[in-house]
Amino acid sequence: MDEFLLMLDGVKRMGDKYIARCPAHDDGRPSLQVSQGEKGILVRCYAGCSYNEIVSALGLNPGDLFKDALTEENKARYRWKWLHRRIQNLETTIIFFNTIWRMD
Ligand SMILES: [Zn+2]
Repeated sequence: MDEFLLMLDGVKRMGDKYIARCPAHDDGRPSLQVSQGEKGILVRCYAGCSYNEIVSALGLNPGDLFKDALTEENKARYRWKWLHRRIQNLETTIIFFNTIWRMD
């Protein structure tokens, strides 16, 4: 669950559930609800994205959110994806600042 939340943006805790920005559509307001179900992690987009759309937007397979799929290997994969995204964000920031500095 924690590993899964690392991959989402704008995660907020709402009682025993979480809300985050949906990765499957351009989500201005967090509309993805994430909760821990009996068999795994449950995701629901209020804008109507399907489970498969959400999971594939994160680069995961449909079965990856089931408890059985949360192997150490998958956890490591989630962490790597999170790190990779942080690096991408950093690159975007650097490009952004480079552009500003060249404008003087
Ligand atoms: Zn969505």
